[in-house]
Amino acid sequence: CGIVGYVGNNSSLEVLLGGLRRLEYRGYDSAGVAVIGADGSLTTRKRAGKLSVLADDLDVHPMADGQSGIGHTRWATHGGPTDGNAHPHLDSSGRIAVIHNGIIENFATLKQELLDDGLVFESETDTEVAAKMLGREYEVGDGLSAALARVVSRLDGAFTLLALHQDEPGVVVGARRNSPLVIGLGDGENFLGSDVAAFVEHTHRAVAIGQDQIVVITADTVTVTDFDGAPVETQEFEVSWDA
Ligand code: GLU
Repeated sequence: CGIVGYVGNNSSLEVLLGGLRRLEYRGYDSAGVAVIGADGSLTTRKRAGKLSVLADDLDVHPMADGQSGIGHTRWATHGGPTDGNAHPHLDSSGRIAVIHNGIIENFATLKQELLDDGLVFESETDTEVAAKMLGREYEVGDGLSAALARVVSRLDGAFTLLALHQDEPGVVVGARRNSPLVIGLGDGENFLGSDVAAFVEHTHRAVAIGQDQIVVITADTVTVTDFDGAPVETQEFEVSWDA
């Protein structure tokens, strides 16, 4: 339902929770974050209920903060609103975290393929299928965005997907089809959001991502391609409303 991604020098957790708070108006039933901590390890925290449930949990049991992360508020479509079904979802290695807006229509067929190969699922979501597929494609060895491109070209339906890999700590990748994704351009930091509310507090410079496109952000770079890896032209616009 709501999506935020961040790479930069500030506290990821602060940026993610702040962005999710600004996306609350869309409605949701669960919330979660994944961050690559200063020690280089990927940590996720996710809770059913209000964002305040997640925030209180983080207050009581702090998690390692870092310079890149993704955050999600969920509106359940596949699997009830539980902690386990909340996003992010992990691949089998536990090194990749994925968040998703929308519905993957062909998830049952794809899930059966993975089950036949012996993969184990922890949730009832369509999203976890994409996370597990991404883990397998990553094993090809050509990096997270190439792996994501292969995964999304097999998905039917509507999706905005963001992914974070422990082995590529300064990078957040995203892809979209029939569901929105916008880049926020900062100074030594960049953002992704399901809408500009996710980052308007930090920057008014934005770039909309087109249908069937992949985006890779680092603190200093933004790259947009189609699902075949061909570069596409982007156009910057100014977000006119105030934070
Ligand atoms: N279909 C996904 C789920 O049920 C994502 C729902 C959403 O857009 O929040 O977990």
